[in-house]
Amino acid sequence: MSATEKHDFQAEVSQVLDIVIHSLYTDREIFVRELISNASDALEKMRHIQLTEADVLSPELALEIQLSADEEAHTLTITDRGLGMTREELHENLGTIAHSGSKAFLRNLEEAAKSESTLIGQFGVGFYSAFMVANEVTVSTRSWKPGSESLVWTSDGKTGYEITPSDEELPRGTRITLKLREECVEFAKTDRIRRIIESYSSFIPFPVLLGEERVNKVEAIWRKRKSEITEEEYTEFYKFTAKAFDAPRYHMHFNADSPIELNALLFVPTENTELWGMGQMEPGVSLYCKNVLIDDKPMGLLPDWLRFLRGVIDSADIPLNISRESMQDSALVRKLNRVVTKRFLKFLDGEAQSGPDQYKEFYAKFSRFLKEGIVTDFDHRVGLAKLLRFESSMGDAGGMIGFDDYLLRAKEGQETIYYLLGPDRATVEAAPHLEAMKARGIEVLFLTDSVDEYLLQALHEFEGKKLVSAASPGIDLPDDETSEKAGETLSEEAMTSLCDFFQSEFSDRLEKVTPGKRLISSPAAACPPEHGMTAHMRQMMQAMNPSEALPPLKAELELNPRHALVHALATAREQNPDLARLAAEQLLDQALLAAGLLEDRVGLVNRGYRLIEAALSQGETSKK
Ligand code: ADP
Ligand code: MG
Repeated sequence: MSATEKHDFQAEVSQVLDIVIHSLYTDREIFVRELISNASDALEKMRHIQLTEADVLSPELALEIQLSADEEAHTLTITDRGLGMTREELHENLGTIAHSGSKAFLRNLEEAAKSESTLIGQFGVGFYSAFMVANEVTVSTRSWKPGSESLVWTSDGKTGYEITPSDEELPRGTRITLKLREECVEFAKTDRIRRIIESYSSFIPFPVLLGEERVNKVEAIWRKRKSEITEEEYTEFYKFTAKAFDAPRYHMHFNADSPIELNALLFVPTENTELWGMGQMEPGVSLYCKNVLIDDKPMGLLPDWLRFLRGVIDSADIPLNISRESMQDSALVRKLNRVVTKRFLKFLDGEAQSGPDQYKEFYAKFSRFLKEGIVTDFDHRVGLAKLLRFESSMGDAGGMIGFDDYLLRAKEGQETIYYLLGPDRATVEAAPHLEAMKARGIEVLFLTDSVDEYLLQALHEFEGKKLVSAASPGIDLPDDETSEKAGETLSEEAMTSLCDFFQSEFSDRLEKVTPGKRLISSPAAACPPEHGMTAHMRQMMQAMNPSEALPPLKAELELNPRHALVHALATAREQNPDLARLAAEQLLDQALLAAGLLEDRVGLVNRGYRLIEAALSQGETSKK
C-alpha cells in the first residue's frame, strides 16, 4: 500500500483558490450548493454505472446525500454514496482544472467573482468554493471499482494537498468534511444549512438528508401544467438544472401529444459562457423518459447550435435503454429534435415581436449561435433567418431590424434585399455605393459582425428576395434627379476612352472598368469581381497559408462621369500624361482602400507625397 503523498496544486488551481478565497465576500453560502451538486453528479454517474457495469462495489447502497453539521466541532460534513474517486481521479479532479492555460478564463473568473460571485459554479471550479469557509477540507473517498483503495485527501487550500490511505475501510462514495473558519461557524448550524438547501438545492433528484430529515422535494415540474407553476419555481428549477445562479433570460414550456408525446421545458441563460473564453458549451438539455433521466448531455437530441439551451425534454416514447451511440440514429430522437427546434424558433420569433428590447439583449449575446445554425443547419435556415437583426442605413446606430421589417418598408416592386459588409458601421457608412442607395431611398442593411461574410455563403435569399451587396458591380439603378443635379456628365466617348486607359494601364489589377451611374459624390468605387473573394476572405486564406502567395487581386472599378476629378483627369491625360498616370493610379488605390481591398499601402503613401508636391509646385507656377 502506498503511504502519504504530498503534492503542490497546479499553478492555475492556486490562482483559482486565491480568487475564490479573496474576492468572494458575499454569498459564501453557495459552497453548500456546489458540494451538493457534485454529490448529485456522483450519484447520477453511479446510477448509470450500475446499469452498465456488472461488477460494482456495494450495489445495495442507497443513492442519497447526507449532511451533518456539528456546532461544537465547527464542522460540516457532506456524504454521498456516488461513484467515489481513485487515487488518479483525486489528483486529476481536485488538483488540476480543465481550463488550465487559458488566461482569459482566469480573468473572467476574477471579473465574475467581483461582480457576481454566484456564477462561480459555472466556471467548473465549484469544489474549491469549500475553501471560502473552511481552512481545512478532508475528502474521504472510495471508488466503485472493485478492489479500490480507501483514500483521504486533505488540504488547507493554500499550497497543496496530501493523499493518504484511510485507517478504516470506507464504504463506496465520498465524504467531505469542512473545518470551518472562525468567521464562518454559522455554517455548522443545522437551521442555517436547511435554509440554504431549501433555496438552492430543492430539485436535486436524490434525497438530501440533514440528520434524519429529508430536506428537498423531488419534482418533475416539466410534466406539470403551465398554470400550476409559478415564475419562482421556473427560476428555481433553471438554477438547479443549469447549475446556474442567475435567472433565466427566457423559458419555454410546452406539452404535446402529437406528432409525439412530449414535455419540454427549455431555458435560455442570461450569459453566454462561450464569450468568456470557456470553449464550446456542452449540450445542456437533459433527456428523460417519464421522469427518469436517460442522458444529461445527449448529443444529437437538439442541433449543435442550440447547445446554449438548458432544461429538460421528456418523452414517454423514448426507450429507457437507448445508448449514446444509437441516439443520433434513432428516428424518434430525430423527430423530437425537429419538433422541439421548430417550436423554439417560433417561440423566439414571438419574443422578438412582443419584447424587442429584451430580444435585442438576447441577440447581443447569442446571435452567433443563430448564425452558426444558418450556416450548418439547412433544415432550419428559414426559421433562423427570420430571427436575424442588423443595423441599417435608415436606422440610428444601435437600432436593429430584421428581414421582415426590411421588406415591409421596402419600396414597392423592390425585389432585392441590399446589404453592405464591413468591419463597423462607420466604415460601411462611408462606402461610395451607399450614397446612391440613400439618394434613391433604398434601405441597406449593415452586416458588421465578422461572421456575416460566412453567413452570406449559406444565406442567399429571404422569402424569395435575393440578398445583394449594394457594392456589387451588377446593380443597375435608374438615374434619378439627384444624379442629374450632381453635375455635368463627361461625354460617352471621353468616358470610354478613360475607362480603356485604366484598363490597359492597370490590366494586372483590374478585371473591368465601367462608368458608374450610381456614384454621386465619390469619383470612383472599387469592388471585388463578381465571383471573386472579398478582402476579408483573402486575409483568412493568407493567414491559413502564409507561405503561399495568393493570386493577385483583380477588382472592378467604377468611374463617376459627373465628378470634377474625373473631368480633370480626362483633361490632364492630354496636357500632362505623366501626372495623369500618377493621379489615375492614386485614384485606383484610394478606391481600393475605401473598399478594404488595398493590399499594398506603401505605394499609396509615396504616390500621395508626389502628388502633393506636384499640386504645391503648380500653385507656385501659377502665382508667378
Ligand atoms: P465540476 O463539478 O464543474 O466538474 P468541481 O470543481 O465542482 O467542478 O468538481 C471537480 C471534479 O471533482 C468533478 O468533476 C468530479 O469529477 C470530482 N468530484 C467532486 N466532488 C465529487 C464527489 N462528491 N464524488 C465524486 N467526484 C467528485
Ligand atoms: Mg461541481
